[in-house]
Amino acid sequence: MLKCIDVLALGSAYVDGAMTPAERRSLRLHMLVCRHCRKYLRALQLTRATIAHLSVPVAEQTVEQVLSAIPPTE
Ligand SMILES: [Zn+2]
Repeated sequence: MLKCIDVLALGSAYVDGAMTPAERRSLRLHMLVCRHCRKYLRALQLTRATIAHLSVPVAEQTVEQVLSAIPPTE
């Protein structure tokens, strides 16, 4: 069974729907017995939903201008 620290590492993948079926089953099993991780994942879902709601569409041209202003790294 997953440990709480494993849930911390998988949290973003869970709320993004980017987990394998086996990972999702393991995470849900842990959530059945751990109220702390249930609270953590619920807060993560709420945070993600809030950020998505606050997002402002940006024109492709603006993205290109910002990216071109970033100096190359070595
Ligand atoms: Zn836990």
